[in-house]
Amino acid sequence: MQVVETIPALRAARAALSGQVGLVTTMGALHAGHLALVAAAREENDATLVTIFVNPTQFGPNEDLSKYPRDLPRDLALLEAAGADLVFTPTPALMYPPGFQTAVAVEVISQGLEGGHRPGHFQGVATVVAKLFNLAGADRAYFGQKDAQQVAVIRTMAQDLNFPLAVIVCPTVRESDGLAMSSRNMYLSPEQRRAAPVLYRALLAAGESYAAGERNPEALESQMQAVLAGEPLAQVEYVSVADARTLQPVTDEADSPLLLSMAVKVGVTRLIDNMLLPGELNTRAGLTQMLGGEPPAP
Ligand code: AMP
Repeated sequence: MQVVETIPALRAARAALSGQVGLVTTMGALHAGHLALVAAAREENDATLVTIFVNPTQFGPNEDLSKYPRDLPRDLALLEAAGADLVFTPTPALMYPPGFQTAVAVEVISQGLEGGHRPGHFQGVATVVAKLFNLAGADRAYFGQKDAQQVAVIRTMAQDLNFPLAVIVCPTVRESDGLAMSSRNMYLSPEQRRAAPVLYRALLAAGESYAAGERNPEALESQMQAVLAGEPLAQVEYVSVADARTLQPVTDEADSPLLLSMAVKVGVTRLIDNMLLPGELNTRAGLTQMLGGEPPAP
């Protein structure tokens, strides 16, 4: 495994990779969710490129940029064991040198949900991912379901800007009690950690009533709210029932696939989770069909 820190070194190492390349972009503090993306990239490509970059432009002024967990030696050991071929670890000064003034704004799909609560977040994400797509020259890029709106924004950007790669979406990897793995889970106290699986329980409750025939979006939302209300440590930021492809709110009982999603604070830690309905869509194929996308045929 080769680790590179500069753009000329990345370009040279990328040029030396042969065959199809899979890209996994991360902010480090790696866990099994990230490693599942690396495993998928390895399976489906000849070489795997991983980036580790805590991107300052996607953090709001009152968010956790300065205390975001960082442990590069541990991350590199995990990536070596996972079989990554090339790792790019740039600094903020390298990605945003003096005079940098370009941004990528993906309009409609960035509004609402996370975008509604984190102004500027998706512009930061789209800009850095566009840069990484350009640098990586990958055939496939792998993202996690956990950040469902993020991958829908990136799919839209890739289509609109004609990036010639497929955007693949892999299912959320969870702890044994259902909590979605996240680098931010390490902020939770033991008591908060015990409360945190309530997000998944709320999704499961709505998923069960959907499976039993419930199609009213308000009823599905109320059910999630009711489960969350049963956990005193959980403070709901939003709970949403949206169209799985457009991410726009659903108000009637039309039978198109749905994205249930939520952001909930447990103490100061903001947790997010989501699920597609019908439940069979929560696979690599279903998720990629709804949230990701293939490039247009050459
Ligand atoms: P991050 O380091 O949080 O920016 O995440 C890097 C990539 O890993 C993104 O595509 C995330 O959606 C994905 N990811 C994060 N957590 C999980 C998880 N629990 N399961 C699957 N993918 C994840």
